[in-house]
Amino acid sequence: MLDPFGKKALEYLNSVGIESLNEFLSIIPARIDVNTALERVSWINTQNYPPDDIINLDRTKGELYDIMTFYALLGALVVSPYGLEMELVKLTNLEIYRSRFEQRIRETKKEILPSKQTEKLNNLVNQLSIKVKAVTKNEIDQRDRIILEKILWKDELDIEDRENKELKFKIHISDFFKFIGDDLKKYYVKGGYVYIQKGMLINAWQRSFELNIERAVNKIYENRDEIFQNYYSELYHRLNEIARKYFKKRLGIIEKASAQPLKFDLFPPCIKIALGGVPSGLRNYAITVLLTSFISYARICPNPSKRNVRVKDCIKDLSIIEKEILPIIIDAGNRCNPPLFEDQPNEVKNVWYHLGFGYTSYPTLEESGNSTWYFPPNCDKIRANAPQLCKPDKDCRYIRNPLTYYLRKLYLESRKRSEESEKSE
Ligand code: SF4
Repeated sequence: MLDPFGKKALEYLNSVGIESLNEFLSIIPARIDVNTALERVSWINTQNYPPDDIINLDRTKGELYDIMTFYALLGALVVSPYGLEMELVKLTNLEIYRSRFEQRIRETKKEILPSKQTEKLNNLVNQLSIKVKAVTKNEIDQRDRIILEKILWKDELDIEDRENKELKFKIHISDFFKFIGDDLKKYYVKGGYVYIQKGMLINAWQRSFELNIERAVNKIYENRDEIFQNYYSELYHRLNEIARKYFKKRLGIIEKASAQPLKFDLFPPCIKIALGGVPSGLRNYAITVLLTSFISYARICPNPSKRNVRVKDCIKDLSIIEKEILPIIIDAGNRCNPPLFEDQPNEVKNVWYHLGFGYTSYPTLEESGNSTWYFPPNCDKIRANAPQLCKPDKDCRYIRNPLTYYLRKLYLESRKRSEESEKSE
């Protein structure tokens, strides 16, 4: 199985009776031990290329086994999405799938008949999560082929270079725009497909793979309570050790999001709208439910490592809540029309309730846990309860919860800093 996000992979999982991602993640711990899952990433600290037994895992142990070892890592990333661990999983698995893909392409060359080669290539690319087909021998007009060869080969390339430059694949125009670019001028286009070389196909697929990892982690994160298991926590911590060793230089610049001063400019649109104050019909949801949960988790526990975490698990006294979090919530409430807390003074007790202290005005830290500390609602819940708050921007495409929007932006910001510092060295 080549692409764990491809249609074929999903059909395969359905065919063995697995209907949802969470169901799949719930059976993995009984089938794949932590060390086995880690073999997909641990090689990075000792060698540049994945070992053959990992590249061939789908053949030696079967497709289901192979795909389970990969999804085990995705389950672990949900413990704390967006960090060096995600970088590590992306990097190592891109290399595994790229090597596997190259190996399988080489194997198609053993077929003597061109039609058989095309058939095998098509079987291979059909498994990808992007719309690609293999190009048949006479598909490009003879006249066009001569012109293209002149442009691509420039007469001086050796056989291997020529093979790499051959237009062996065609990608659907919609996926071309998504993963390659927006300028068709330099390409041969026919029947809704853009003709490309092997290297371009691999690059396009890499982009889709990275995006799919983010999408999958966000999808699992949506129902992450269901998979909070020691197995995934342990796997996450071991991933963290390997990542810290591999990315030594970037440590200190890229760190996982932890309790830290809030960066308002990185908040998602719905939170910015709530902060600006909203009309009466929206006030309670926007301020007491959404803003209270978002600001409190973002400030003091952006990556809760267990289910039903309490405020007292994350801070030692209430000063952060009293001096930082409550003023933000009260100010936003006062910007509502009419002002929320002037209109409904008891709503402050409801804020404490949503912070997990029960319905009260002056709690102590020890009282945290008297009610549930509400986690920020997922985007689909926000859209259902308060559609006026959801005005998605381009970054909303990747996430399914406002808190992961913020974690992702924090991560991208620190990654940019790290890249700049590497350049300036
Ligand atoms: S998509 Fe989600 S994060 Fe973005 S504005 Fe809507 S609710 Fe907020």
